[in-house]
Amino acid sequence: MRENLRIVDSPIALSAQDHALIEEVKNFYQARTRVPCTTCGYCMPCPSGVSIPNALTLYNDAVMFESRIHPAMIYDQFFGQE
Ligand code: SF4
Repeated sequence: MRENLRIVDSPIALSAQDHALIEEVKNFYQARTRVPCTTCGYCMPCPSGVSIPNALTLYNDAVMFESRIHPAMIYDQFFGQE
């Protein structure tokens, strides 16, 4: 605890500008994350063989980066045959 408090007060602690940038980046990613899946795996195994957490992660990637080519290829190669 003391060590953590010492770091917070040290010169390497994040500035208000750093916190603002982190908040901006967090908001950007949250706005572009379509499905808030935590990949906990509770929904697995899927009776239809769908790798649900991986499919949702790749779906989010496709939306975030505005391209489904790479996520679709990854799903087909690694998760489509489960
Ligand atoms: S979709 Fe499945 S892996 Fe994702 S948060 Fe829900 S239960 Fe967990």
